[in-house]
Amino acid sequence: MNEADSEKLAAGLARLGWREAAKPEDADLAVVNTCVVRQKAEDRAAAYLGRLRRLKEERNGRGPLQIAVMGCLVGPRTDDLRARFPYVDVWARPQAFEVILRHLVPDSDLGGEFWPETFPEPKGPTAFVPVVHGCNKFCTYCIVPYRRGRERSRTIDEIAREVTAHCARGVREVTLLGQTVEAYGKDIAGRPDLADLFAAIHETPNLQRIRFLTSYPRDMTERIIRAVAELPKVCEHFNIPVQAADNEVLARMRRGYTIEEYVECVQRIRDIVSGASLSTDVIAGFCGETEAQFQRTLDLLAGLRFDKVHVAAYSPRPGTIAWRHLEDDVPREEKMRRLHAVEALQERIATEINEALVGTTQEVLVENEGRGLKTPTQAPDGVTDGRSTSSGGPQPVLSGRTRANKLVHWQGEAAPGEMARVRITRASPWSLRGEPAEASVPA
Ligand code: SF4
Repeated sequence: MNEADSEKLAAGLARLGWREAAKPEDADLAVVNTCVVRQKAEDRAAAYLGRLRRLKEERNGRGPLQIAVMGCLVGPRTDDLRARFPYVDVWARPQAFEVILRHLVPDSDLGGEFWPETFPEPKGPTAFVPVVHGCNKFCTYCIVPYRRGRERSRTIDEIAREVTAHCARGVREVTLLGQTVEAYGKDIAGRPDLADLFAAIHETPNLQRIRFLTSYPRDMTERIIRAVAELPKVCEHFNIPVQAADNEVLARMRRGYTIEEYVECVQRIRDIVSGASLSTDVIAGFCGETEAQFQRTLDLLAGLRFDKVHVAAYSPRPGTIAWRHLEDDVPREEKMRRLHAVEALQERIATEINEALVGTTQEVLVENEGRGLKTPTQAPDGVTDGRSTSSGGPQPVLSGRTRANKLVHWQGEAAPGEMARVRITRASPWSLRGEPAEASVPA
């Protein structure tokens, strides 16, 4: 969501005549878009602000560097932040783009069609499209509802215009975003749901794939699951955070479901959507989590066998319900031990799942740069030379994702945005390696 916000702000700045600088040293404005979902993310933002302060002090005759901070670090009151970071020029809450634009160009006209017609510039064949902002769930550990506010859906028309604009400029895959994306439409006229939205954008010219993120078990209706199964462009990949598998812990988190309901939801998806891939999120060491309760999480992961698990050690976030009312009583070392136990289990499961794909042919959207492959020579899985090839000609290392969201690296000839058929030759827990199955199909 932050990436999408940054791109939207950049698009707004571009409409006012600002251009992206090659590096911070050359910039007249630096915007730090912050995440405070965990302490580590907040620490990183603070460290980066320290670096910008030094840049601001060492301008060597260049004009002043203005620093703006946007995102979840910024709450309704900024007194503490202003005292802590006095060199920051402007503070903007998540998606409060206008605060920054008006600071730079006070008399700019940002009304009417300015924002509805401001679409981010695509950086490749994939794009994030926020469809519902905010969250109403108030899980006890989470700061998001306090920072991003209540759920607010965009209209289908506005989203469809953005998807059309992206696809006219080279995008082939969109990921529809929401903190809980199945909440889409509950707050707008006619109460369209995510299935209606899939259908409305499905025939967009040049669009090849639709993804959606992040799912919330109780909002995942059978209608939405059936739409994933029936609409060919909607990828059969679900990210459904479970967070913990013990009902007492789930109740302390106020997740709003029991583990039985969660398992039923996963089962329903697997029954309806053939070949569905699933990922989940886990918090290790939440307040009061006993060893036996943590073991239930391990048992659940072993039983449901997710394709991917994102695990984080719990860190209290000031202002949340857990921070106010629950004791952070699992020692740090124990949280880390539990986190590593989840990682070790998941490494084994993901290896088994991915190895079963060796020998199959997968349809991969070529992304080439980014998403885990920084340069050809840094490709994992033993791909060390992106320029040598058995046929003698230069063949770059390509990267892209399968419909099931598996990262694939291979050597071949295809441009970003093309759909390639790749035969999988090797697997690791994190990615696949392959070779061209046949000529790539232009998108
Ligand atoms: S569902 Fe819970 S964890 Fe997710 S954004 Fe909302 S409050 Fe946070």
